Parts: sequence; structure tokens; C-alpha cells
Amino acid sequence: MKKNMSKKKVEELRKRLVRKPQLVWDVAKPAEKKKVFEFAERYKGFLDAAKTEREAVREIEGFAKKKGFKDITKGDRGNKFYKINKNKNIALAVLGKRPLVAGLNLIASHIDSPRLDLKQNPVYEEVDLAFLKTHYYGGIKKYQWLARPLAIHGTVLKKDGSSVNLEIGEADDDPVFTIADLLPHLARKVQTDKKVSDAFAGEKLNVLAGSLPLGDEETKERFKLAVLEYLFSTYGLIEEDLISAEIEIVPAGRARDVGWDRSLVGAYGQDDRVCTYAALEAAGETKPPQTTALALFMDKEEVGSDGSTGAKSRFLEDFVADLLETTGQEASAKALRSCLMASKALSADVNGALDPDYQEVHEKRNAARIGYGVCITKFTGSGGKYGSSDANAEYLAQIRKLFNENGVVWQTGELGKVDEGGGGTIAKFLAIYGMEVLDCGTPLLSMHSPFEIASKADIYMTYKGYRAFFGSK
Ligand code: MN
Ligand code: MN
Repeated sequence: MKKNMSKKKVEELRKRLVRKPQLVWDVAKPAEKKKVFEFAERYKGFLDAAKTEREAVREIEGFAKKKGFKDITKGDRGNKFYKINKNKNIALAVLGKRPLVAGLNLIASHIDSPRLDLKQNPVYEEVDLAFLKTHYYGGIKKYQWLARPLAIHGTVLKKDGSSVNLEIGEADDDPVFTIADLLPHLARKVQTDKKVSDAFAGEKLNVLAGSLPLGDEETKERFKLAVLEYLFSTYGLIEEDLISAEIEIVPAGRARDVGWDRSLVGAYGQDDRVCTYAALEAAGETKPPQTTALALFMDKEEVGSDGSTGAKSRFLEDFVADLLETTGQEASAKALRSCLMASKALSADVNGALDPDYQEVHEKRNAARIGYGVCITKFTGSGGKYGSSDANAEYLAQIRKLFNENGVVWQTGELGKVDEGGGGTIAKFLAIYGMEVLDCGTPLLSMHSPFEIASKADIYMTYKGYRAFFGSK
């Protein structure tokens, strides 16, 4: 140890050795700050138009078409393609100069968000009011869904196979729906004195849908009948149609600016449509790169990635096989394996930002902070890194260098204290192929709530990071 260093020397050394997290607002130039706010406007528009996975697919397809991407199943020629899987997930690719077997630059996000799904026999009546039964989807705090305006979004398949899309509760003059909560005066025994996990039951998340009867007092189930009559006269639906349906209850209302300075976005569904939109714009701007850029938008992440539209499905392989064939190569098992094995991925998902009121659940030296840029997360999982894909140090070195060279303000994050809880992303399902994977996305406050909060600065840096990644070798 050198003990007699001058004060100036020590200070110089400190600057050289110690990593200082950067607040985006401190380092962004005025021109970049302008871009931050402009990007957020486009992002909010996407959030309002894409409140479900199906709506997200429609929006992404619309965006892709405008940017010259072609549906790969149609056999058109080109170097920008997309493919849709069952209207619930989608992928975009910009073909690179190197052959596909040399690997992809892949950004994978998810377009499903926690919500309430209608059960297949939803309509019933109780004490002369009409209701809809729900089964919640993903990790919600049930009480957050009570006593607030809710909207219905969904798709119903009729007997003849034709489909009806529903969206009620978003236009200013639309009615909304709601789940009534118990008055505090009577809540002591059944709610207040209980553990929160016991106080709110899934079977009580019943959506109020009407109170006008049809017929007279003699009519059986006349409040339920009134709802069915409305659905029939408005959409031509009968009760059995609701069985072949996916109807989602989501918070009603638009994405909003939060704070006097309008520096934050508050909205439903930012996990993970914030990374989705950042990846989408980045893909849209990618000129033919060295390495093929692929943006993957998955469904079912919030329930473990199972199912034919989730990350455990073979959709990625299928799309890469199409890309191989489009470029005149045989989509052999070997070529597929080589391509995926040589690929580099960002698992584009949000992280929980340090919560000012609950700092005790975070480990402050390693928690993501609002305003400090896009967050890279080496490992997720919980309690001993269980269930994590833990990115390789070599790969972190590459991404760190890439972000530093491209003016991307970034930070690292860990989801909570070691023994506090945790969570996973689709990173581990990509890692199965042997590709490099790193979690990289926007930090959120109020994650999984009906009104999640993100910093416009972090949203923009997420996009900037993804754009740099797609443009990299
Ligand atoms: Mn997520
Ligand atoms: Mn989530």
C-alpha cells in the first residue's frame, strides 16, 4: 500500500478504479433527452393498443409491415421477415451478411402480462346482479384488482369458426367493469385480521357486469339472461361461444405520464411490453447487419412459458428453419443446432427497481435503480441462484463493452436479497440451445401491478442498448 499519496493522486485513483453508477439525466445531452421523451410517446401509444398478447401480435405485425418485413410463410423474397404463431406470438428477423449457421443476435421478450382471464362458463347472477367468473393469470396481488375500472379484451370463436374481437372499457364513453370490494366497516374478520394471502380469495374476483333484469319476476336467471341477450344482440354470441374464447380482464385506461416533470410512464402491462417495444423499434431500424438480428416476442412467460406459444415451444427453431430455407440452405437438424448454438441472446425482461418504501427486501449495492439506465442481470432465480441460467462472464464482458462503446447508460440488477424471494425469465429456455444469454431490460416500480412505473430515461436506454446489440457483429 502506498500510504503517502497526494490528495490529488488519491482522487484520480478513485475516479479510475471505482465504478460510479450514472443517472441518465446527468449524462444525457439535451438532444438525447428530447429523444427520450419522444420515444416515450410512441411507447405509450403501443401500450394502449396492445393490452393483450393477441393485440401485441397485431401491433407488431402492423409495425413490421410498415418497415418492410414480409410474412415468411408467403414465400416472398427479401431480407426482412416475420412469422406469427397462432396469433399469440411473433418473431421478426433482419437477415445478416454472415450465414445463419454463424449464429443470430437474438432479443427475446414476452407480450403476455398478469391479468384476470374469464372462465369458460363465466356468466352468472347473485343477489340480482350479473357477474363474470375469473381465473387470474400470472403473479398478481389480488387486492390490487378490486374497486377499480376494468376493461374486457378478448377473442371469441363462434360455432361456425368465425371470430369476434371484444374491446370494451377503453373508449371514454364505454362502460367499464369492476370487482366490488368489501366496505372497511365490515371487513375486520374476513379481511383485515387475516394474512394478506388469506384475505383475498381467487374465487371472489368476480366481475360486476350488470343489474338490469330481462323479462319479469317469473323469468329464470333473468339478470344472467340479460347479459346473454346483450352479447347475442350486439355480437351474435351464445353462451356456448364463451367456451371457445380467450377473454381477458385488464385495467381500463391509457398509459399516463407520472410526475410534474413527466419523467415516468405509468401503465398496465409494462412487464414486458416495455422490452417488447424497445426491441421492436430496434429491429425496425436495423439495416442489414453482419449477424442476423432476430426479435422474438413470446407468450405465456407469466405462467412458466409452457404451451405452444410459450418459450418452451419450438417456435424459435421453426422460424430459424424457415430463415435457413429462405436463404437457400437446408434446414437440417445440424444447421439449426449450429445456428442456435452460435447465437447470442438478450433475454429482454424487466427487473424490479429498488423500492423506496421497501428497501429492506433489496440488497442496495446490487439492486437496479430508477433512472440509471437499462439493467443487465447476470442471474435470476431464487435462493442459491436456483432455476437461473447465470450468464457467462465472457458474454457479460462483450455486452458491457458494446454498451460502453455505444453510449448506452446501463446498470446491474438482482431481483431482491438472496433469501428474499426471486423470479425467472425465459433466459433458461434459450440457454437450452447452448447460446449465450444475458437478462437485459428496464427496471420497474410496482411490477405486476395494474399500474407499473418505468423511467422514460431507462426505457430509452433499453431501446438504445438493443439497437446497439442488433447492430453488433
Ligand atoms: Mn417479465
Ligand atoms: Mn412478470
